[in-house]
Amino acid sequence: MSGNGIHHVTAIAGPARRNLDFFTRVLGLRLVKRTVNFDDPGSYHLYYGDETGTPGTILTFFPWEHAGPGRVGIGETMVTAFRVPERSIGYWSHRFLAKGVTHETITRRFGQTMLGFTDPDGMKLALVGERDAGDEAMWSGSEVPAESSIRGFHGVTLLLRDAEPTAAILTDVFGFAEDGREGSVVRYKVTGASFGDIVDIHVAGDFLRGRQGAGSVHHIAFRAADDDMQFAMMQRLADNHGIRTTEQRDRHYFRSIYFREPGGVLFEIATDIPGFAVDEPVASLGQSLKLPPQYEARRPEIEAALPDLGL
Ligand code: ZN
Repeated sequence: MSGNGIHHVTAIAGPARRNLDFFTRVLGLRLVKRTVNFDDPGSYHLYYGDETGTPGTILTFFPWEHAGPGRVGIGETMVTAFRVPERSIGYWSHRFLAKGVTHETITRRFGQTMLGFTDPDGMKLALVGERDAGDEAMWSGSEVPAESSIRGFHGVTLLLRDAEPTAAILTDVFGFAEDGREGSVVRYKVTGASFGDIVDIHVAGDFLRGRQGAGSVHHIAFRAADDDMQFAMMQRLADNHGIRTTEQRDRHYFRSIYFREPGGVLFEIATDIPGFAVDEPVASLGQSLKLPPQYEARRPEIEAALPDLGL
């Protein structure tokens, strides 16, 4: 079965305004959707991505003003990495210094340049230099120059007790294949995707379990082109791996099913359709608060309770 890699990554954040400032102003991503957490309409769900919110570029957050800090451990996503042009790594290193962003020294992994950094909540992120990052769609409405801007996800690193049970899902259901090993890390790659085509498994053996909180990744969503492909993946999970998913949930911009993979990470399968332009034009994505139909009647009350974003 072939897949198309990562659709989006969703994480937990502290104050919404600080989160928005970091991802749009410091990293130069576009706010492509401003909506509420469909399961908790008193808090935001913010989506960042490229100009149109192309699957594979979307990082989303549930910001809670008083979220306590998380702790990375077994069964969690350890690092979320973006692709940038190789030649821009120096630019980013200087930018992080200038903006006071906590970052690491530049390293190499699997032959690629990597610059690790953390967001204001301590979420572990990285920029990975791509030699052939060229003219993919990006967002040019920020102060980051086009030649240095983020080009979607590189991939994620999962911190797991062992690789095999999770690898079985990645390869059999999502179309990934092992692409190399370096130290404790096994790399899996899917072909046919421009973004988000890497899942690294960091094998840690016995180690503390993670604790979810601000800075933690809540789940990783993988792409399904449409409902038929999602259904086929769901059947494959059941038939070959004995894993039951949730019922399909309508997330308005995509349709989703969820399951806990054997290593403990929450996985989602999200459809590429209908996308973020379903309720506002591409030119004005993210500029106003969008509510799903079930909450529209409560708009005044919901708007009044949401924190100020400073926009
Ligand atoms: Zn999701």
